[in-house]
Order: sequence, then structure tokens, then C-alpha cells
Amino acid sequence: MDHSQLHRSISQVKSRLSSAARDANRTADDIRLIAVSKTKPAKAVRAAFHSGISDFGENYVSEAVDKCMQCDDLDITWHFLGPLQSNKTRQVAEHFDWIHSIDRVKVAQRLNAQRPEDRAPLKVCIQVNMPIEESKSGVVSSDELLSLATAVHNFDRLDLRGIMAIPAPCYELSYQREQFGRIAELLKTEGLPSGMTELSMGMSADMEAAIAEGSTMVRIGTDIFGARYT
Ligand SMILES: *Cc1c(COP(=O)(O)O)cnc(C)c1O
Repeated sequence: MDHSQLHRSISQVKSRLSSAARDANRTADDIRLIAVSKTKPAKAVRAAFHSGISDFGENYVSEAVDKCMQCDDLDITWHFLGPLQSNKTRQVAEHFDWIHSIDRVKVAQRLNAQRPEDRAPLKVCIQVNMPIEESKSGVVSSDELLSLATAVHNFDRLDLRGIMAIPAPCYELSYQREQFGRIAELLKTEGLPSGMTELSMGMSADMEAAIAEGSTMVRIGTDIFGARYT
């Protein structure tokens, strides 16, 4: 994709975000746009940065770390979104600002221990897998959410901010809203640590529904960078 096409895609996504916010009586400034650059080269990240994107999301550790290093001169906020094996936590602890996909204590514990002293605590969302899908990770009940959140809250090198979800793709707006609405309800679970206000939900095909249901971070890949072929 050439730069002018990328620039146009970004403008379109930003205007969709603004009109969805307006429709929901919300301010666009309260919704962070994360460009999901997985499988795309560092030069696409650079071009998007110069078109006004400062948050990027990645799913695969080694590919992501390469890009973080190649874009080291840019003031980028990096978000790790993918499943994380415990033997790769150090790279995430060292290179990222956020992780959205915490699904178990062991990974949180390692990230906490490995977060470099000279960096701010790693911002964290807990991934929820509701309604349950076999192929996805994440907590599957509000009880599980509460117990993992309580554990993560006690790690002082982690900053627990909210939850993330990837509901099954579906093209009907009312159904998308129903799913996102249920996810949003989870933040009201009694006893959750304070400060859990972020709702990371909404991708290319369902960002409007997610914003209508209170999303504070949308993660957009395809509609910014084009289709992924790998
Ligand atoms: C790939 C991915 C996205 C972006 O999806 P698109 O449909 O391409 O916008 C968002 N979130 C996660 C967790 C992803 O893995």
C-alpha cells in the first residue's frame, strides 16, 4: 500500500471513530485508536506514524521486537495484543507499554519481575473470553476475572487498567452490540480493583458497535494497513 492510500485509510478510520463517538454522545478523545501492524513492515509503521498514529498493536513477539527497535527514534506507544508464552515475557516486559492479553497469573508474575526499573509499570488489560470460544484464551467468568485482577493488582511493576475482548466476528450490528454490552458489564463486577476503566474492544469490522458500548481502545488492522496475507 502506498503512503497516500495509507493516509486516506487512516483518515477514514478516524472519521468513523469520530462519528461513532458522536452517535454515542461520547468524545473521540476518550477513544484510543491502536493501529494493528502485525505482519506489516516497519516502514508501514513509520508511514502511519507520520500520518498521525502514535499507538501500534502487535501480536507476535519476535516480529514485534524487531519493529520496536527499528522504530526506536519515534515516540510510539506499543501494545502487545497476542497470546504470550511464558518463555517470551521478557521481550514484552522490555519493549512494550501495554499488554492487553493477560490471561493467567504466571505470565503476569514474570512480566512483573522482568519489567525494567527505568520504565513505568507495564499497563495491563486482562483478556476475557466470553462467550467462551475454544480457540481463544482469556478468563471465562466474572469470578475468574475477579481473582486474576486481584492477583495482578498486587504486582507493583504492573498497572492494571481494564479488560480486552475479541468476540467472534459477526456482521450484524445488533448482535455485535449485545456481545460488547455483555463484555462492558464485566467491568462492573463487584470487588474489582479501582482503576480498571479501559475497555479494549472493537476491530475493523465492529468498531462502531464497540464504541457504542463504551470501548476506550479500538484495535484496527485491516482497515488501516489493508488485508494480511500471511
Ligand atoms: C489482528 C488483530 C486485530 C485487528 O483486526 P482487524 O480485523 O484486522 O482490524 C485486533 N485485535 C487483535 C487482538 C488482533 O489479533
